[in-house]
Formats: sequence, structure tokens, C-alpha cells
Amino acid sequence: MTEKRNIVIKIGSALLANQDLLTPRFGFLQRLLEDVMRLRSQGYQVILCSSGSVALGLRMVGETPETAGVSDKQAAAACGMPLLLNAYKQVGHEYGIEIAQVLLTLGDFEDHRRFLNTRNTVHRLLEADIVPIINENDSITTEEIRVGDNDRLAAKVAQMVGAQDLVILTGVDGLYDRNPDDPEAQFVPEVTDVSDYMEATKGKSTLGTGGMATKLQAANMAQEAGCTTWIAQGEVDRPLSAVLSGERRSTKIIAHENPLSGWDSWIANRLQMAGSVVVKDTVFDTMAERKRAVRREDIISMDGDFTRGDVLHIYDKQGVERARGLSDFTSEEIRVLVSNPEAEAEKLLGYRTKGEIIRGANLVPLETRHLLWDAPAAIAEEATGLGG
Ligand code: GLU
Repeated sequence: MTEKRNIVIKIGSALLANQDLLTPRFGFLQRLLEDVMRLRSQGYQVILCSSGSVALGLRMVGETPETAGVSDKQAAAACGMPLLLNAYKQVGHEYGIEIAQVLLTLGDFEDHRRFLNTRNTVHRLLEADIVPIINENDSITTEEIRVGDNDRLAAKVAQMVGAQDLVILTGVDGLYDRNPDDPEAQFVPEVTDVSDYMEATKGKSTLGTGGMATKLQAANMAQEAGCTTWIAQGEVDRPLSAVLSGERRSTKIIAHENPLSGWDSWIANRLQMAGSVVVKDTVFDTMAERKRAVRREDIISMDGDFTRGDVLHIYDKQGVERARGLSDFTSEEIRVLVSNPEAEAEKLLGYRTKGEIIRGANLVPLETRHLLWDAPAAIAEEATGLGG
């Protein structure tokens, strides 16, 4: 490999923490980091997205996975993070790997300035040949501002650093077309359209947060950004290199051939919905050419309180989400513009404006390949009125 290739590796809690004792699994870390060393010698720049802080900290706060509530887990994460990093540091030393910790929250992805700032930090670490170990800052995040699971966190990181590969290491060897306990279940080696398997993947792991469904959502985000995802068993020798070389089976979710640009992918893959609008069908006729803005007269209804620069989800009258785009106005301004269709925008807002709610360049059509959010109930029922 001549060019450096960025690879993100997501490691689930069950691999890192002993299920009964809730202590670090050094044997696993050794196999992992030995293989990270191998990948680095092949020209990969490795970024780890590691879970495990909550699981490793639970005992210190006197809890178990079954008993812990939200604030127990937040405290446990604060206790477990140094234990986790210390384990990586010690084992990494054996293989000549320097590590660094980066703790993120949802806002570091969703706010574009913070997104770029975080990206610079990760790139700087890679430049210095250091392996960034990324986790969500669980101690300070609350439900509303969480990514919530490290599968999607890892996909967001992959998108952020322009990674070509994302390996999600877990306790199973990949995806099955139905519950793997079912004797009829078939292993799925390769996936192009993840929506084919979303139904089959309900269910959760015991120690971590995600199940197979969040892994597929993560893979969908990654593939849109041009990154291929491997879901693979972590509990083996050479857990990474044997999968990348095809020696061991795994489920490979193939990157799209025409990935979204970095800007489009940032708009389309936001996890938090600031607001939504229902628009007339004519908006969609020419949207693919990206010249058509969403104008005030296109808006049928709107939901949410948001500010300029927030990403809106754009629905058709049937309640199907068709696009996402950056709002050029606050929700209050849009309400005023839409409720007074006859009045000039300048008179209503006090400044000159073309009244383009979302500019064409900031409007990303969602093709069928994108996993959609559920339409908010209000939209599914009936698309009228300008509720708050
Ligand atoms: N951030 C959590 C932790 O470090 C894990 C989240 C997950 O497993 O997806 O424990």
C-alpha cells in the first residue's frame, strides 16, 4: 500500500470487559493491538472507537449492568475511562503503539465548526503516528444530546476523517438473515442495501448499547460516505487483518460507488432533527439537479424550533422523508413568512431576502438507499398547520 488509508475500528464493551467481573480483558487487548501494529505496518492509519468505560467503571460505583440507572452509568464512565485507557496504554507499549484519548459529544459532530475542529485534532494525532482512541463523553452527556451507541459514533468518525474502512468488532461473526438462534438462519457475507435486513436485526447486546440494527445503521452512514464496513468476530487471533484479507468470514457492507460529498454527508447524516417541513411535490421534481431551492411558497407545514444553519428534514405530503437541508432562517422567521404569503419578505423581516428557506446547494435529496427516520406523528397524520 503506497497511500495511507484511514481505518476506524469499533470495539464493543463485551470484548473489553469481563462479563462477570467487569474487569479489563487484557488477553483480547493483546490480540487486538498486535493486529493494529500489523495494519500500521501495512500503511493503515488506525483510529479506535472504544466502548467499555461504563462496563469497567460499574463496580467502583457499586452497580451492575442490570441495576445501573443513567446517573450511575455517567459516574461509572468517569471511573472506567482511565482504567480503559490505562489498559490500552500498557498493552500498546508492548507493540510500540502510542495512544491518545478523544472524548466527544453529539455537538462535536452536529455543529459544523466543532466538527472541523475535532477533525483537525484527529488528523494531527494521526500525523504524529498516534492512535486516537475515541469514545463518547458519557459522563456529561444526557439522553437528548447523546449519539448513544458507539456503532454510529464510529461511523460518524469514519465519515469525519474520510476513512475507507470501518471494522465493527463484536461477539458474533457477522449478520444473519434472521435471528441466529433459528436453525434456518443463513449467514450474510455481503450487503449492498442494509434496509433489506433491518427487520431481521431487532435485539440488543447485554453489555454494550447497540445491537445488530445499530450496526447496520452505522454501516449505512459509512457507505454513504464512501466507506466499507466489516462486521466481524473480535474474539479471535488477527481479528482485523484476517477479515480485511478475506481469510475469515465477516459481513461486508459495501461503500456506495458514488458517495456523497463531505458537505452533503454532513447534512444528510445528522442524528438530531432540529425541525421538519412538509413541502409541495413540485419541489421534488427538479431537486436532483440541485438548483431548486425550497422557497417560502413551497412550505405546507413546519415543526420544531430551530435557528439559522440547522438541518431540516423535508417530507412530502405522504409523510415520506425526501431530503435534508440547511435552513437559512429561524423557525420564527419561517412562521412569519409562511403565515403572511401576500406580504413582502423585507416588510415582514426587516431585511432584504430572496425568501429561499433552503438554498439548492444546501439541499440533499435522500435516495432510496438512505435509511429514513420515522416521520414525526404530526406529519404522518396530516400535513397542515404551522405547529411549534
Ligand atoms: N460509550 C459507552 C462506553 O464506553 C459504550 C456505548 C456502546 O457500547 O455503544 O461504555
